[in-house]
Amino acid sequence: MEDPTSVLFQRALGLVPPWEVANITFDAERHRLDIQLSFDRGARFACPEGDSDDCPVHDLTEKEWRHLNFFEHEAYLHAKVPRVRCAKHGVRLIQVPWARAGSGFTLLFEALAMVLMREMPVKAAARDLEAHGGKAANVFSFSSDLHRPYRLGIQEHFPNATLTLDRYHVVQLLNRAVDEVRRREQRTAPGLKNSRYTWLKKPSKLTTRQSQDLLYLRDRYRQTGRAYELKLKFDDMWSLNSEMAPGYLVAWCSEVRRSGLEPLKAFADSIDKHRYDVLRWFRTHISIGVLEAINGLVQAAKRRARGYRTDRHYIAMIYMTAGKLNFELPT
Ligand SMILES: [Zn+2]
Repeated sequence: MEDPTSVLFQRALGLVPPWEVANITFDAERHRLDIQLSFDRGARFACPEGDSDDCPVHDLTEKEWRHLNFFEHEAYLHAKVPRVRCAKHGVRLIQVPWARAGSGFTLLFEALAMVLMREMPVKAAARDLEAHGGKAANVFSFSSDLHRPYRLGIQEHFPNATLTLDRYHVVQLLNRAVDEVRRREQRTAPGLKNSRYTWLKKPSKLTTRQSQDLLYLRDRYRQTGRAYELKLKFDDMWSLNSEMAPGYLVAWCSEVRRSGLEPLKAFADSIDKHRYDVLRWFRTHISIGVLEAINGLVQAAKRRARGYRTDRHYIAMIYMTAGKLNFELPT
């Protein structure tokens, strides 16, 4: 049975079939979280040399991995890891997907916190985390837009949380600024009327005709054209690494200030004020798309749980914190 909650964990741990989460136990007193991974009997595995992905299991070795902490709890992964019999290489220990670098436990952690944040007012989320054994002070990362009351709420109730400005909202604000430049220029240049979406669409999404129109518009209406160029430059920032991005952002803001385009200058000022929150994205890469996907899984878990006692939004979080855990939900 595909339980959405264990799908959530499978995804967060980077598990691929035949591996799956078999059981999770949480011991509040020992501050310990144990995640048992397993596979179906008869499953076949890839040879570590990469020549075959259909090797039979020879024998099993019980192994344990220390993973990142979940709140203040130590997290361990357990699995019986097979040695396979490869026709060419003989008996070899397989590679397990979760042991590779960058496995996504942090993502899971943040995602669960985010699901809470999105579902409840900040204060209630903090209280609930405490009530279920998590310490709000240990929650370390949130994605957020520029909405000030929300930011203040997070800082008040999650004192150690850092903010990552949601990239989607940043892009939205910039689009709004570009459109404001267009509307101002349009007062003396009626040819700009009805061109709003041509400027706002992703270049890759434009039809050939729209691309031609855009070239013409950029050439002819220099203020909006300039704002558009600056927007493209800003978009380029997201593909930079965390070493390159800070300098790039500073240079971009000063270029905007020299442009004399007031709506963009206001945007740059706001970005400058929250510069470290924006740049944190390059380290945490929290984006709303990933969170939406995980939120969708949690919503599915919630729908599935309807009619049972645990009819709560954050069923996954409760599973993680409420004691003995079992993913074999009744269906
Ligand atoms: Zn082999």
